[in-house]
Amino acid sequence: MQNQISIGDILDQHGDRYINENRISGQQKGLIHLLSACRTNGLGSHFERCDHCSYTGKSYDSCRNRHCPACQQKDKLEWLYKRMKELIPVGYYHLVFTLPHELNPMCLQNKKVMYGLLFKAASQTLIELSKDPKHLGADIGLIVSTRPIPSIRPIHLCIALPQKHYG
Ligand SMILES: [Zn+2]
Repeated sequence: MQNQISIGDILDQHGDRYINENRISGQQKGLIHLLSACRTNGLGSHFERCDHCSYTGKSYDSCRNRHCPACQQKDKLEWLYKRMKELIPVGYYHLVFTLPHELNPMCLQNKKVMYGLLFKAASQTLIELSKDPKHLGADIGLIVSTRPIPSIRPIHLCIALPQKHYG
């Protein structure tokens, strides 16, 4: 794991050039600098000591930013593990519900309302269609997820829908 290239390494090497060659916001510049400094001397360090084996070692401080892949890895894996425990042993369809890109600014200003509406519209559509005997005639379960609001990509939901009845 020590020799793997991280996002921080890439931003450290190329971040300033990217900033100089592209029009990005002050917030984005700050994020590039923060992520490139994560787990380096740039954010400081501390010493750790294991209570069980008395190992001691220097550890660099992390940025804990929600955009940092290194800092969010643990949370991501925990979320993924919880979702995997919810899955039933059948195949799944991957469905995507996408909002028109023109609605991104409205979503940025009203995240809670807009995402709430999107989650509700997508899940109710699938539940209603599945209950209809002309289609499936069954109650369904589904897992709905999304990513933080992207600045240039359309906002979308990803839905895992079981392919079969189970139980
Ligand atoms: Zn970080």
